[in-house]
Amino acid sequence: MTDLALDARGLVRRYGSVVAVDHADLAVPRGEVVALLGPSGCGKTTSLRLIAGLDRGEGTISIDGVVVSGGAKEVPPEKRGVGLVFQDSVLFPHLDVAANVSYGLRGDDRDATAQRMLALLGIRDLAARMPHEISGGEQQRAALARTLATEPALVLLDEPFAHLDASLRERVREEMLGALRRTGTSALLVTHDQSEALAIADRVIVMNAGRIHQHGTPEEVYRRPVDRFTAEFIGRGVVVPARVTGAGVASTVLGEVAVGAGTPAGECFAVLRPESIELVAPGAGIAGRVVRSWFRGGDRLLRIELADGTLVEASDSAWHAAGERVSVAVRGEVAVVR
Ligand code: ADP
Ligand code: MG
Repeated sequence: MTDLALDARGLVRRYGSVVAVDHADLAVPRGEVVALLGPSGCGKTTSLRLIAGLDRGEGTISIDGVVVSGGAKEVPPEKRGVGLVFQDSVLFPHLDVAANVSYGLRGDDRDATAQRMLALLGIRDLAARMPHEISGGEQQRAALARTLATEPALVLLDEPFAHLDASLRERVREEMLGALRRTGTSALLVTHDQSEALAIADRVIVMNAGRIHQHGTPEEVYRRPVDRFTAEFIGRGVVVPARVTGAGVASTVLGEVAVGAGTPAGECFAVLRPESIELVAPGAGIAGRVVRSWFRGGDRLLRIELADGTLVEASDSAWHAAGERVSVAVRGEVAVVR
């Protein structure tokens, strides 16, 4: 018995000379929600289509320990135990919400199951409405209810919140995530929104140009990115040239900074997150000038230009106007990438 709901190895899909998915390995531990995160066009949807069996490429795909694609084997989509939720899910327009949810079910308890799923997604009141009588967010919840009703081994969600307005997105996201968690459903959720991925997933898979850069918890990909792409794509901050000069020390435009003790000597880049840049007393750090500041509620994000033109970002609780002269220093250990 495997502990992986999804184990995909060496996925490749070419469209002519474009390699949309380039030797990608993707895994979803059973019961976890994993975000597949990357910029638009990096191969996320293509990967989902391969896993669902809607498209075919190279590599091996196992779902709940059973090979569904690989070598001569190709299990059809409906036999893979996979549920799909898309950006705009299509409900049957002539069936009410409850009938949409019970559509794929068999047996006497299908109506009861549908009611249970609607309750799980917080849309029990909408059971008798027609699809055109509910909002986009409610349609997405109904689509997930319909998918979960069939108890799939793995749910694949492709940017399911992308078309919802910001005010609604968080609520729908929480309802849908809650339903996945309460049912212990394994899910692979595609998003290009890094804050969304970090906020909701147990694990994040970072993808760019068809290739997987990193698998890790949100904390790991944020604090210990494996390469420059991941460091710049995930979270705020800047990446500056650095040289590791001794055990746990690197020199940068901001002076000497602490890095992991085992970091090999030589040229690299230091990842400076806003929370690792602090404003210090004049003269106590490196001189800079505030070029922009954003109010964020609890704090302000400051963009600061250093004397040599390097831009860094800092988070501070006080107001600093553009043009103000400040002094900055690096606090704590920072990540380095090559
Ligand atoms: P994402 O979902 O990450 O935005 P896609 O998986 O949709 O990216 O696309 C990855 C790459 O493959 C893009 O360069 C896209 O143009 C290309 N692509 C996707 N589908 C097709 C297709 N049917 N024919 C040709 N190229 C495609
Ligand atoms: Mg896509």
